[in-house]
Amino acid sequence: MSKVIVSSLYQSDVFIMACRQFDKAADAINLPEDIRDRTKYPRRCMAMALPIKRDDGTVTVYEGYRVQHNLATGPAKGGIRFHQNVTIGEVAALAMWMSWKCSLVGLPFGGAKGGVIVNPSQLSTGELERLSRRYMQELIPFIGPQVDIPAPDMGTNEQIMAWMMDTYSNHTGHTDPAIVTGKPVSLGGSEGRREATGAGVAYLSKRYLEDLGISPSQATAAVQGFGNVGSETALALASYGVKVIAISDYTCAIHNPAGINLAKAVEYVKYNKVLKDFQGGEEITNEQLLTLPCTILAPCALERVITPELAPLLRCRILAEGANGPTTNKADTIIEERGDIELIPDVLCNSGGVIASYFEWLQNLQNYYWTRDEVLTKMFTILDRAKEAVEYQKRKYKFSRRLAALTLGIARVAEAKQRRGLFP
Ligand code: NAD
Repeated sequence: MSKVIVSSLYQSDVFIMACRQFDKAADAINLPEDIRDRTKYPRRCMAMALPIKRDDGTVTVYEGYRVQHNLATGPAKGGIRFHQNVTIGEVAALAMWMSWKCSLVGLPFGGAKGGVIVNPSQLSTGELERLSRRYMQELIPFIGPQVDIPAPDMGTNEQIMAWMMDTYSNHTGHTDPAIVTGKPVSLGGSEGRREATGAGVAYLSKRYLEDLGISPSQATAAVQGFGNVGSETALALASYGVKVIAISDYTCAIHNPAGINLAKAVEYVKYNKVLKDFQGGEEITNEQLLTLPCTILAPCALERVITPELAPLLRCRILAEGANGPTTNKADTIIEERGDIELIPDVLCNSGGVIASYFEWLQNLQNYYWTRDEVLTKMFTILDRAKEAVEYQKRKYKFSRRLAALTLGIARVAEAKQRRGLFP
């Protein structure tokens, strides 16, 4: 299983984890040796120094990256992360997962990801705007609506996408909304995009509940992370009748067996920025949240939170991976061996976000806008189709669900590369 990683540039735990997943999937489908490395490793990357003027007049230089993993199946697509722990290896792993995800759900995109090493909560609004614009300015030679289309990820949001779209548009001389997705609706953003990732996580969780014969009203959920994905997952699960008994962010976790008042939690976070001291339940740790007895556990924050130490302690029936890469390779094996947890792998589980981003890009290119209902209904149809394909692959080859999803995504990228030739 553990092959030598030849790339030194991207060396990191998370990149090695993504490579191990790839190697396992490539072995499982007997992917020819001559196509493996060029399917696995990123096509190209850009590292940039981003000097910005601080409010006190000093200058700080931030470091940013964009990794384009695959451009063989269409323009690259992937979010931009602003976080203090960003590394180029993490960005590369996330870009790789974007490639498999887009291919799995059948979108005409390759995979990319971007990141800046910064804690955005420590910047003023003006500083954040200058950093976002500078990052886009540096990216201009490298991206475009037919080349690479960024979107929000951890630490970035609609406002940041608006600044980036404006920076790019000022360069081209006309409003070019298709350069990024996840924009405000007033600037060509799509109805339904903001809630799409969480709505998709909740929708797939509901579909797997149906498979298990559990009614949503009998189900409970614990959700880690209360940003875009976590809060929307919690709200959508609650709208199906699931009782959300725990939520968390980086400051704390809140547990209430009677059900968290989500509307109050959303309101609280809107004004206080964090969940700390929210009075809607008992405060517990993030680790305690992950091991609570519940029907659905949805990690919607960082990667590698379900560790080999934690995996035997999980007490959920469904593990819905809203975050990218929340489960380490070893934890994955433990969960597979346990056999009592339905794991919905990230590349399927959180794909609602990129599906809605695809719809946003289409609407921008056509200048023809859809309703929220159209967006979400079409998204659910694609999710159903992808789920069905994954279940078929799982049954046919007796794969785990993650292996089934990854093999489908990887096989399509590999075939595209093989048919096109050596360049892409
Ligand atoms: P976000 O910045 O909106 O929210 C992140 C949340 O995680 C915040 O509540 C933060 O406090 C919390 N968090 C950070 N560190 C934590 C820790 N150590 N313990 C507990 N909570 C912690 O980010 P997001 O857009 O919601 O992204 C969350 C995850 O979902 C990421 O893995 C991202 O790659 C993935 N994802 C996002 C989208 C999208 O459309 N935004 C799509 C697909 C996947």
